Amino acid sequence: MRTIKIETPPPVMTHHCGGCTHQPVCPSAAAADREAARIVALHPEQGWSLLCNGLVQFDDTGVILPDGRAVGPHRPTDSPSRG
Ligand SMILES: [Zn+2]
Repeated sequence: MRTIKIETPPPVMTHHCGGCTHQPVCPSAAAADREAARIVALHPEQGWSLLCNGLVQFDDTGVILPDGRAVGPHRPTDSPSRG
């Protein structure tokens, strides 16, 4: 398992169209599998990550879309004490 740590601030969230150089190309922010996009900026100390398609994803699976809309947590998070 590899941890990505980028200390530079996240890029300005304007247009990410065509900016993806990953292979396969990341899903767009409008795609159903948008959260499968690669992480381009990880901020575990703040509990969020910036995805390649402009999505901001939080630890609790909540998401902020590039257009500013917020999506609440929608997936169960890993709970080590469960069971
Ligand atoms: Zn990408």
